Amino acid sequence: NANLSTVDPEVAAAVAEERKRQQNTLEMIASENFAPVGVLEAQGSVLTNKYAEGYPGRRYYGGCEHVDVTEKLAIERAKELFGAEYANVQPHSGAQANASAMVALLEPGDTILGLDLAHGGHLTHGMKINFSGKLYNVVPYHVDKETGQIDMAEVEKLAREHKPKLIIGGWSAYPRQLDFAEFRRIADAVDAKLMVDMAHFAGLVAAGLHPSPVPHADVVTTTTHKTLGGPRGGIILARKELAKKLNSAVFPGQQGGPLEHVIAAKAVALKIAASEEFRERQQRVLDGAKTLAARLSHPDCVSAGVRVLTGGTDVHLVLVDLVNSTLDGQQAEDRLHSIGITVNRNAVPFDPRPPMVTSGLRIGTPALATRGFGADDFAEIADIIAAALRPDFDDATQQELRGRVELLAEKHPLYADLP
Ligand code: PLP
Repeated sequence: NANLSTVDPEVAAAVAEERKRQQNTLEMIASENFAPVGVLEAQGSVLTNKYAEGYPGRRYYGGCEHVDVTEKLAIERAKELFGAEYANVQPHSGAQANASAMVALLEPGDTILGLDLAHGGHLTHGMKINFSGKLYNVVPYHVDKETGQIDMAEVEKLAREHKPKLIIGGWSAYPRQLDFAEFRRIADAVDAKLMVDMAHFAGLVAAGLHPSPVPHADVVTTTTHKTLGGPRGGIILARKELAKKLNSAVFPGQQGGPLEHVIAAKAVALKIAASEEFRERQQRVLDGAKTLAARLSHPDCVSAGVRVLTGGTDVHLVLVDLVNSTLDGQQAEDRLHSIGITVNRNAVPFDPRPPMVTSGLRIGTPALATRGFGADDFAEIADIIAAALRPDFDDATQQELRGRVELLAEKHPLYADLP
């Protein structure tokens, strides 16, 4: 029963270093967050030992009386938080939530309509070498070249032309809200089902700061680790009529034993997400993203070839277009990394550069808001990023900016009390 550092010093050292990295740098990857200690504790608990195939009250294993409690709490909290009739909290990840939902709604060979990966969609919305692209006939829709916003006229045109069985709304890299009612109208017009993947913006929905897809969609999927701030995992929400199909699509359709330690951690995260403190935090997420978008739209950024896609944001992220900059996405990511800010490069729609390089950055505010960043801190980080993307960036600038990043990290300590 030795602890980690005794039984495996190499793994213990890497974990300790990763903790230091998280503490000493500023995390602005839009899909990441910092799970609260209570979530880490549940996820690191003895529940990891338990097999519990089936669902609460109907398990294929004995000894499930306690994991039934935690799974039921997670289900009830998910339903309550999002106003859904049905919740399945077992998907191991967002990708598996989507795979299960699609198995429940489709037959292989059916046509699906999803946002093109190159325009901000997710792999599971129809990428060629993903299961979704292999199993289904994929028709991608796009953003408009001028506005950068999803072209709902094209969605309708493609839907009428291809008569999909399923239309998917949702994105991994898109800075605006979707028109769920319009998606519903189009789906109804062609007798398609509507699935919304709110993986990215679920935390904003939970806080009431983003329209909810739940009243409009047949099925809503999400991850639990992005804006929602919980453990890595997935959830499916739906109307009651689809409960049986979705339950059997998850287990035994896609998965075996559920990760009950993760499900307990989901329950904790969902409880936190219903709190006033969480709502206030999501407000800082949104305000911070708006501050960043405004700063990167300033003339000193525009003259450096930096452009904010769609001209702003109404979610937790900003997409930066570097097509006219001397920096490509990789160089910009590396430059920010060199001053202690972690972001990811991201293809912009109609990107002239290859996917491993890209001409864009995706920059998110959820992790910093969780760290406690307020308006002044977001103004400071926006200024630091603007300075880092300028052509006159040199060693002295790098040192200066790195110092300012360190001050922000020290001002907002992370996991200080973690054993
Ligand atoms: N759906 C969307 C929209 C996503 O952005 C992601 C992850 O980036 C996923 C699903 C998949 O989640 P996971 O990485 O947990 O499989």
